[in-house]
Amino acid sequence: MPNIIVIGGGASGIVASIIAGRRKAKVTLLERNDRIGKKILVTGNGRCNYTNFDMRLDYFHGSNRNFIDDVLKLFDRDDTLDFFEKLGIMPKIEEGKIFPMSLQSSSVLDVLRYELERLNVNVVTGAYVTEISKKKEFEVKIKSGEVFHSDKVIIATGGMAMPVSGSDGNGYKLAKEFGHSIITPTPSLVQLKLESDKLKAINGVKFEGLANLYIDSKLIRQEKGEILFTDYGVSGPPILQLSREAVRGMNEKRKVELELKLFDKSNEEFKDYLSKRFSYMPYKTVEIGLIGLINKKLIIPILKEINLDKSSLVKELTNVDLDKLANILTSWKFKVIGDKGWGQAQSTAGGILTQDIDPNTLESKRISGLYFCGEILDVDGDCGGYNLQWAWASGYVAGLNASK
Ligand SMILES: Cc1cc2nc3c(=O)[nH]c(=O)nc-3n(C[C@H](O)[C@H](O)[C@H](O)COP(=O)(O)OP(=O)(O)OC[C@H]3O[C@@H](n4cnc5c(N)ncnc54)[C@H](O)[C@@H]3O)c2cc1C
Repeated sequence: MPNIIVIGGGASGIVASIIAGRRKAKVTLLERNDRIGKKILVTGNGRCNYTNFDMRLDYFHGSNRNFIDDVLKLFDRDDTLDFFEKLGIMPKIEEGKIFPMSLQSSSVLDVLRYELERLNVNVVTGAYVTEISKKKEFEVKIKSGEVFHSDKVIIATGGMAMPVSGSDGNGYKLAKEFGHSIITPTPSLVQLKLESDKLKAINGVKFEGLANLYIDSKLIRQEKGEILFTDYGVSGPPILQLSREAVRGMNEKRKVELELKLFDKSNEEFKDYLSKRFSYMPYKTVEIGLIGLINKKLIIPILKEINLDKSSLVKELTNVDLDKLANILTSWKFKVIGDKGWGQAQSTAGGILTQDIDPNTLESKRISGLYFCGEILDVDGDCGGYNLQWAWASGYVAGLNASK
């Protein structure tokens, strides 16, 4: 059985180590932190959304979709459920998202750690890999100067999201030294910064609505759900989902706009509604007349945005006033001017070019015996358990094939 070094003790590296360990390979897992699985603990707000009931290719992104499809077919959602159930994790489904019944990510990490221990995987923490070379066998050097030897190496160092967890993109350098190309990594599943002088005033307001992303005036993607205004822009699941394309658009210097729909209605429909609403309360000012329709914190900023005097009586509003009011409530447009960066991002778009990796084994086509898995590859998923599904699936494929 081969002697395998796995670099990176995150979701994908841990699964790769377990799968290879079960096949009786001699596995050494090198992790730069003082413990493994740091990022797993923060997933799903500490609850670990480890996969999703609705598993389709549409929820995954990358420049080589066939590659993603091939890998996901080798270890699908049911394989994930089965793998974890046999380790003790009972699933709990919430609107398709799957969590451990305990609702604690620490349970997921605990069962993985016990399994590594049971299989006698040699977990070495505080081991920051700085160099890998291959002669007859691989030589893996860590910061302290110590050198490890193996027949196979699996690189599972993650992408660049949440660098404090250990994944700061240093793994790309290791891959480049073996001739691998990198698709420029950009933050994904990240909050967006907007251009507006109203943000301070509306900071903290949440609403259930729609977010439409436009790039160069073309609708790219629409998402629904809870949206949160912040002092820098917007957050919330729909925004995270749109962020991948928004960030890429900005990097390409294109015009990126977000349309927020507090109400999913057409301007005409909503204008009719407002006319009817105001007919019940003609004596009210527009400021008072909007109470009960939208969050109170939004009223003044919205009226300012459309230059409508807050003390105007609703019965005196002109057709143009109603039109502007209906328009902002059904289509509030903002220019997207940035993102919250790697520190806040949950995933990495881009990474190692997958054309150079065999999708059936995850072995490098350039260096035999070298494998990759997880977020370091040019694959990323939507919010909802898809990134972890990718980590488990690719970890499985790399671990299985490296141990053959
Ligand atoms: C806040 C947050 C919440 C998330 N929630 C979810 C969720 O609920 N569901 C979901 O599906 N996905 C979620 N994700 C995404 C998911 O956690 C990641 O996609 C996944 O963990 C990636 O696994 P990985 O093994 O590829 O990399 P990582 O988990 O990043 O692990 C890489 C490991 O390699 C180590 N390492 C790096 N370089 C070296 C080196 N040179 N030498 C030694 N070790 C090294 C790092 O310290 C790290 O431990 C979330 C991400 C974040 C940041």
